[in-house]
Amino acid sequence: MKVLVINCGSSSLKYQLIDSDTEEVLAKGLCERITIDGRLTHSTTGKDKYTIDADMPDHNAAVKYVLNALLDKETGVISSLDEIDAVGHRIVHGGEKFAKSTMITDEVMQAIEECNDLAPLHNPANLIGIRACKSLMPDVPMVAVFDTAFHQTMPDKAYIYGLPYEYYVNYKIRKYGFHGTSHSFVSKRLAELIGKKPEDCNVIVCHLGNGSSITAVKGGKSVDTTMGLTPLAGLPMGTRTGDIDPAIIEFIAGKEDKTVEEINQILNKKSGMLGLSGVSSDFRDLDKGISEGNDRCRLAVDVFAYHVKKFIGSYAAAMGGVDAIAFTAGVGENNPYVRKLATEGLEFMGIKLDEKANETRGEEMKISTEDSKVSVWIVPTNEELAIARETVALVK
Ligand code: ADP
Repeated sequence: MKVLVINCGSSSLKYQLIDSDTEEVLAKGLCERITIDGRLTHSTTGKDKYTIDADMPDHNAAVKYVLNALLDKETGVISSLDEIDAVGHRIVHGGEKFAKSTMITDEVMQAIEECNDLAPLHNPANLIGIRACKSLMPDVPMVAVFDTAFHQTMPDKAYIYGLPYEYYVNYKIRKYGFHGTSHSFVSKRLAELIGKKPEDCNVIVCHLGNGSSITAVKGGKSVDTTMGLTPLAGLPMGTRTGDIDPAIIEFIAGKEDKTVEEINQILNKKSGMLGLSGVSSDFRDLDKGISEGNDRCRLAVDVFAYHVKKFIGSYAAAMGGVDAIAFTAGVGENNPYVRKLATEGLEFMGIKLDEKANETRGEEMKISTEDSKVSVWIVPTNEELAIARETVALVK
């Protein structure tokens, strides 16, 4: 089957066409600046990547450009739209309604819309992507794959905040967690790598990218995760604070005469690695800063790795032990220094990093020593492939 995977944001749309039999990516690309002006970057496996400025007043126009790129006689990969067997949409928030992926129907779209409150920046954009695809491919089956679904197995003690209980009842304020598609994909692969069934092991997945989260996966199920009601919680990230004392918000508002919206913007866009270092949200720039002796870059990375280590320890405690740990996503796969800092001193828990193996970047690799009781791995994530697999499973 050929599955088109769509990840639609408010002004961007990422796509991949995947052959689900071989799991090969046939073509992929990105539409940016939708509703502003528009730009498409497309690449077909084995051919040169190209970028065109394109008029994209709305997402329908963007999807049209994508389909045209896939159909193009020279650079395309299909000769008719009938060759697209299914579309898998990444949806950020499924609330408590969706504990797994689902075929998209009118009722499902309505239910996704009801979660808009919980992800006001993402869900409306995801829905626009669904509608645009439906209008251009009305007969193609479509599947919604939710970032939150994998975490719906968390027990109530892990997802309830210490707030008045009515807020949970009235507004569904609770921990949901994100990056679920990645945590699910990586935890399954990690179980395979250590020769166990997912049901028979406890693993911790550290998804460390621009947005970062860590999940405790016990017997194949998410039992706790660091992100919360929104993706702002947990680890300090590229530009997000992660967990802070909630009283800080009122404190800043008083000192700097700022509104809640302005502070929210600071917590989401100006904090984390960027705010701490004053240099960049990107770990490559922080590494460079550290090598040049920039102490705030050193501090930012130290803070990040320290939090990763603390969550590893707390999730091992929450699960009553851990068999294996995976590092994934941009930083997890490519940053030996962060992995070293995050695991050093954990020998008491049976974690011993193999320094040479830890130099590996971007490929699957065991990075703990042979005598390490807990095995530690780099496991590259592949959210698009995971979405394609979920889509095929439902459509078949
Ligand atoms: P997102 O959360 O936006 O998907 P990514 O998972 O792509 O983010 O992670 C982005 C981060 O990963 C950046 O801080 C970047 O420095 C780091 N990163 C990505 N690729 C590499 C690489 N090849 N080498 C070193 N660092 C990388």
